[in-house]
Amino acid sequence: MPEKGLHDLQDFLKKNRKIFIASHRNPDGDALGSSLGLAWYWKGQGHEVTVVYPSAYPQNFDWMPGVDEVLIFDDQEDQVVDKIKSADLFVFVDFNHLSRIDKMGEAMAELETPVFLIDHHLEPDLSHEYYYVDPTASSTADLVFDVLTRWENKEFLEDPVLTTCLYTGIVTDTGTFAHNTSSSLFGKVSKMLLCPIDHIAIQNKINNSLTEKQLSLLGFCLHHRLQVMPEYKTGIIFLTKSDFAKFDIERGDTEGIVNYILKINNIKIAAFFTQQPTIVKLSLRSVDDYNVADLAKTHFNGGGHKNAAGGSHYKGLKSAMDLFKKVLPEFVNNQTNE
Ligand code: 5GP
Ligand code: MN
Repeated sequence: MPEKGLHDLQDFLKKNRKIFIASHRNPDGDALGSSLGLAWYWKGQGHEVTVVYPSAYPQNFDWMPGVDEVLIFDDQEDQVVDKIKSADLFVFVDFNHLSRIDKMGEAMAELETPVFLIDHHLEPDLSHEYYYVDPTASSTADLVFDVLTRWENKEFLEDPVLTTCLYTGIVTDTGTFAHNTSSSLFGKVSKMLLCPIDHIAIQNKINNSLTEKQLSLLGFCLHHRLQVMPEYKTGIIFLTKSDFAKFDIERGDTEGIVNYILKINNIKIAAFFTQQPTIVKLSLRSVDDYNVADLAKTHFNGGGHKNAAGGSHYKGLKSAMDLFKKVLPEFVNNQTNE
């Protein structure tokens, strides 16, 4: 478990009170749960804490504790830059590189402010002053749990706000305990559920909160935009710019569609292409040893986890899909030979 300076960080925070917590663009339940959980914890210790995401969070997380105080860089740039300049500590949560937070990262890179990185993505940047990283962890919330266990006695688990945040992160990133689970994770969750949180309601808010429009879009994708390539155990879904207009697709509406491809028997690799105004965004999912983070990194300027990754392409939708289909046979072949 690579870590650095957890104890020193406690000392540092005795004298330095302004904490700036950043997570990634299009924050998911893990980005939200881990950052809001840490914010709640540090606020409880009297710190001045700011949580910032580069872009807005999905609406089905608008109930999360503290989310109404979050700043969004895209909408509140000046305010965020002021907070960046005055911070004593930057905390990077659930992302592994400044490029994942775009322009906000550029404003931070200019400063000498110490960084605490807490993340479970592959290839973390270990040049920071303080870190706690583990690419095998279920979620960043899982790692926040570990860090707090190291810093505190078990009483932090009696706080329903904190527990709600961490539970949300774990449920999101494990697909409600469908993947990335382990005996140790269930051990932690078992302790968390001693706290009186409404864990069924939380799961419902995460999983059963689609709008009618989102469900129709899913139906459209599965009926009209799905290509299955059984020979490569792969399925693809794509959405064009005109699909975006026709369905009035907004941020978050396409979330989770990629996962449905893996419900097909014997399909191990899922790719979801969306034609955005200027780029094509690719979301990848896989099972077993198909390392889609490798594929995203090598061919699509991206990265992520072994079984959930993403990237971008700059030459149009057809070019992106052609490239994917061109590199797929070798990718599948290499992984099966390992
Ligand atoms: P999603 O498909 O949900 O957007 O992203 C899945 C995972 O892939 C996330 O954990 C995220 O970190 C990673 N990912 C998605 N897009 C990119 C990208 O453009 N660059 C990198 N480095 N990682 C990405
Ligand atoms: Mn995560």
